[in-house]
Amino acid sequence: MTSTETSSGTGNQPASDCLFCKIVAGELPADVVASTERIVAFRDIDPKAPVHVLVVPREHHGDVSVLAAADPELLAEVVEVADRVAHDLADGQYRFIFNSGPRAGQSVFHVHGHVIAGAQLGWSPA
Ligand code: 5GP
Repeated sequence: MTSTETSSGTGNQPASDCLFCKIVAGELPADVVASTERIVAFRDIDPKAPVHVLVVPREHHGDVSVLAAADPELLAEVVEVADRVAHDLADGQYRFIFNSGPRAGQSVFHVHGHVIAGAQLGWSPA
C-alpha cells in the first residue's frame, strides 16, 4: 500500500465501500450536529463520552496523514469545526483525536477526528 492508498479507495476518490462517504452523501443516516460546504460532523454510533462527535471532510482521504499532505487548509477547517462543536455541545473543554492506521485503532479509512467532551476525561489511550 502506498501512502495515498487506503483499504477503501485511493487518494481523495470516494470509494463505493466507504461508510463515511455514504454518510456524507446522505445515503446512510447519521445524527448530524454541524455541516459546512466541506465538512460534516455527526455523533458517533458508539459514544465513549457524553459528547462524542466525528468531524469528517466530505472529500475522501484515507487518514489524517493523507489529508495533511493533500489539503492542509481542509485539515485546519476540520479543527475549526471540532472546536465549534465542542463549544456548542459542551463547555469547550475537549479532546480531539485522530486514530491513524490500524495499530492506532483506526477502523474507518475515511479521515475523521473524534471530539470527546462532556465529562472529566481520563488519560489511558493505550
Ligand atoms: P476509528 O476507530 O476509525 O478511529 O473511528 C471510527 C468510529 O466510527 C468509531 O468510533 C465507531 O463507533 C464509529 N462508527 C462506525 N460505524 C458508524 C456508523 O455507521 N455511524 C456512526 N455515526 N458512527 C460509526
